[in-house]
Parts: sequence; C-alpha cells; structure tokens
Amino acid sequence: MPGFEFFGEKERAEVQDVLDSGVLMRYGFDGMRNNHWKALELEEALTKRMEVNYAQLVSSGTAALTVALASAGIGAGDEVIMPTFTFVASFESILALGAVPVLVDVDNTLTLDPEAVENAITSKTKVIMPVHMCGSMANLKALKEICSKHKLILLEDACQAIGGSYEGKPLGSYGDLGCFSFDYVKTITCGEGGAVITNNKTYHKNADHYSDHGHDHIGKDRGAENHPFLGYNYRISELHAAVGLAQIKRLDEFLVIQKKTYTTLRNALSIIPEVTYRAVPEGGEENYSFLTIFLPTEDLARSAHKALGKAGVDACFYWYDNNWHYYKKWSHLTNLTSLGKIPNEVKEQMPDYNKADFSKSDHWLGRTISCLIKLSWTDEEVQNRADKMVNAIKSIL
Ligand SMILES: *Cc1c(COP(=O)(O)O)cnc(C)c1O
Repeated sequence: MPGFEFFGEKERAEVQDVLDSGVLMRYGFDGMRNNHWKALELEEALTKRMEVNYAQLVSSGTAALTVALASAGIGAGDEVIMPTFTFVASFESILALGAVPVLVDVDNTLTLDPEAVENAITSKTKVIMPVHMCGSMANLKALKEICSKHKLILLEDACQAIGGSYEGKPLGSYGDLGCFSFDYVKTITCGEGGAVITNNKTYHKNADHYSDHGHDHIGKDRGAENHPFLGYNYRISELHAAVGLAQIKRLDEFLVIQKKTYTTLRNALSIIPEVTYRAVPEGGEENYSFLTIFLPTEDLARSAHKALGKAGVDACFYWYDNNWHYYKKWSHLTNLTSLGKIPNEVKEQMPDYNKADFSKSDHWLGRTISCLIKLSWTDEEVQNRADKMVNAIKSIL
C-alpha cells in the first residue's frame, strides 16, 4: 500500500471513459452515458472479490461506517463497541447517528479483546465494531459468538485490511456488515471513496437508499422516486468509481507484492529474539500492508522507533503517541468538544474516558511499532531496508 504508487494506463482509461460521456453522476442520465456505469461495475467487482451478495459504494470509508450503522437501524442512544486503537472515523460515524461510542481494550492482536467486549455489553449495546488495523484482523470467531449470544450486529471495519482473510473468507465478509475505504493512502484508492458489503438484503437496500437522500431507486425518473425514509448524500462520483474499478482489478497483484516484501523484512528481523510480532488469530491471513512488531518494553520501543528514523527507515509508526489513532490523544472525544450541542443520550451514556482504565491497551500499544509496506520498492531497496532495520533495532538493545 498505498495503491497510488501504481497509478497508470488502466486508471487513466477508466477515467477517460467517464469524461468522454461527461456523466459524472452514478445514477440516471441513461441516454447520455454511453453505457458507462463505473460505480455499478465496481460494486459488481467488489461483490465477486469479497464473496458477498451486495456492495454499496459511498463517498468515503467514514461514510461507509456511518451508512452501515444507519442501514442496520442504529440511532440515538444505541451503544456501539469499538477499540481504543483505531482511526477517529470509528467514533465519528457512531456519533453522527447520535449513537454512543463505547471504547474497549485491545489485546495482542491490536484489535478488540473479546473478553473486554463481553464485559462492556449493556442492555443498550447494538453493535460490535472490530477494526482490522494495519492489515490484520480481530478474533472474528470469538466476536461472532458473542454477537450470537447477545443478539448483536458484527460490523467489520476492514478499511486497512482489504484483501486479508479469515477462515477463508475475505475480511469484511465475515460479519453482518463490512466497510472499506478507498481514500488516498489505502491499499486500493480512488482519491476518496468507500464501500459497505453485506449478505443482508435489507441492510443493502437501506444502505442504497440512505446514501442517496432516501431515494428508492425505482423507475427511470429520479424526480418521481419515493423517499421511504430520511437519508443523506454519501454518494460516490463516477470519476472516483472509475479509478477504483481499475484499482480493484489490481488488488491481488498488490497483495502478492506486499506479502513478498513483508516476508523478507520479517525473516531479516527474526535474528533478533527481543522482537516479537502482533498475534494473528488462527485462520487469519493478513493483507501484509504493514509489518507490526513488539519490543520488550515501552522505553525500548521508543528508542527503536527513534533509531529507525535516524537510520532513514521511513513510514514506521509509533501509534501510542499518535494524535489520530489512539484513545490517549482523543481529547475532543473525551471532552465532547463539538461545534454544536451534543445529543443528550451521548452526554448521559458515554463513559468518562478521562477516568477509564485502558492499561491493557497501553501495555500492547506502548511496545508497538508498525512499518508500512510500500508497493514500489525494488528488491534491492527492500534488502537495504531490512539491513537498516536490523542494525537500528540491534543498536538500542
Ligand atoms: C481510513 C480509515 C477509515 C476512514 O476512511 P476515509 O475514507 O478516510 O473516510 C476508517 N477506518 C479505518 C481503520 C481507516 O484506516
């Protein structure tokens, strides 16, 4: 990742198709569009590749999460369980619907800890939202069992793990709903875009209507369509979908490259016994977009991260100190700093995260360094990087 490294002829040709007809909107204008339906084609490609019945494209990954929650009927006061380590989009989408984000610890998978999830369930809990961070997945089997037991919805945020799998199923397809992002730095990108996938016909229909102002999409006259319920505009444009269409066809090519690079780097690091790796749940296969390691202590992780930077090993992240991906820096959430008034349900029900104990998350994230795998590196560059990583980490142990 990211897919933008490999933009080329294929992306240009798809975009040119759209520009030639001039129909930039995904719905309507049947006569003008010269049979170009890029969003529809991309949805078809996604259902095939992700082995699901339905895909709904939207304008971003954040929109995908919001639409997925809305499609399942989530609203004011419903509680959604999400991890302490994720992107801010997780709680943004929940709050957008007036629902309540309930933060829960991560374990050595760096995703939701099933035991902590079970402890956080209340009578208001509706959804468990694991986030497959940095290319690897949550223990989906355990989470699905919890969902079955408590009649909850399992929503997978697979924005960072497209192409990975669990028990042979593409990530995003295992739960009731799955979400992808195609923003500029994701494995597959179209600039801005996202998708909701599901096997549930009602959720799909709801997502289709909700993401387009509630349009029921029946008939050929947009103005005459009905609006069975309130919606919003989370549509993707044909231009974005065109780029995505070219990119999705290259996903498996990207995954092969990522796996090869990941393997080379990991093999090189294997001579350092102090370096260990995030746990991948049994039956899971990463998408290899990051190599994520643990150092024995927080101090050593901080030193290793510094040493890697000094050695010129770029794109390695120490998420523990990150402003956007870890709960410690989410003061705007913790203090509910908002431009407008916050719904009473959120104010009353949201736990006080200034007082919460997430020491289990801190234990893992404090020791974690995650290095991005780029698609464009040559074999020589990968080898060079491996050597630098080994030397940098050895130097601080
Ligand atoms: C990128 C990302 C999102 C949001 O996607 P956008 O398309 O940028 O809105 C959501 N969740 C995770 C885990 C992400 O990495």
